[in-house]
Amino acid sequence: MTNSFQTQVTPGASPAPRPDAAARHGVVGMPQLDYTAGLAKEMEPLYERVKTVIPPVEWPFFAPYIKAINTLKKQRGAVILAHNYMTPEIFHCVADFKGDSLQLAREAARSDADIIVQAGVHFMAETAKLLNPDKTVLIPDSNAGCSLAESITAQDVRDLRRKYPGVPVVTYVNTSAGVKAECDICCTSSNAVQVVESLGAPRVLLVPDRFLAANVNNQTNVEVIPYEPGRCEVHEQFTAGELDDYREMHPGLKIIAHPECTPEVLKAADFAGSTSGMINWVQDNRPEKVMMVTECSMSDNVAVENPDVEFIRPCNLCPYMKMISLKNILDSLVYMKEEVTIDPAVAAPAREAVERMIRLNG
Ligand code: SF4
Repeated sequence: MTNSFQTQVTPGASPAPRPDAAARHGVVGMPQLDYTAGLAKEMEPLYERVKTVIPPVEWPFFAPYIKAINTLKKQRGAVILAHNYMTPEIFHCVADFKGDSLQLAREAARSDADIIVQAGVHFMAETAKLLNPDKTVLIPDSNAGCSLAESITAQDVRDLRRKYPGVPVVTYVNTSAGVKAECDICCTSSNAVQVVESLGAPRVLLVPDRFLAANVNNQTNVEVIPYEPGRCEVHEQFTAGELDDYREMHPGLKIIAHPECTPEVLKAADFAGSTSGMINWVQDNRPEKVMMVTECSMSDNVAVENPDVEFIRPCNLCPYMKMISLKNILDSLVYMKEEVTIDPAVAAPAREAVERMIRLNG
């Protein structure tokens, strides 16, 4: 898959006005990556924390990378942002900030770090860059795309505006900067209803996720018009029947689902919310057994913080999130790649769409 950044932003971009990240920050030597007895001892307390979700056989491979990344990020003055869907060795062992894409970008904007490494998919790195235009933003693999972000282009939004004249367009944060630049305001899965209602319009287009649009439509008097092709290839796979089967197999099970799932799945769940909303729900309700209907790694990450809760784990992996690894995070810090740049003509209106949402949320 070609990511939306490459297809929609780079071709129109002006030549970079400054030297690239490697020239600005310099390239360092690759650290030594042996798993020695001394390193094993030093890393013992960290492994103790994550041992329920990282098998002992994998730790000798991860530990040298974790040590090298944590040392180098301090030397570089870098921070690592890790999305809730990152694997536990990234999420718990090298991340400075963890959360959903908006939380991560906002945290980065508050940080003094000059360099941000986005452990997540490409639209997240772009959002971090939009909110941190003067910082160096790196993504370990720029091919880490997203089926939702790829489902819509800036031209598609212009076509929708022609089809629905005068109807405001809200874009889910899972879009390229080029798409955000064509929309009135951004939203996340946690504030979508509030954003839609803030516009004071009887009809609103919500792109690109057709299921999020349908779920928001069920919670408001505003008519929410969906963009039919948009869907997350991970969340669309869950079915209400599957949830019933899990309830039968695990009496007393609580099921919480992400709003990128179908309306039928949300109806069959006990709670629906964004990744942050789901984490808060587990912490507030302390269920005996819970199933998080979302990407696989999230249950592992939340389980580490909630050892008293049993997690039933249906497993739908996001192949794009899984392109990010300790190895390519270390490469990012060593070689200062891959740098995220956005054409200023695109960045200005895209940033306004994101900041308009942030102003709304205070
Ligand atoms: S889980 Fe779905 S929405 Fe999230 S990055 Fe993967 S494909 Fe995109």
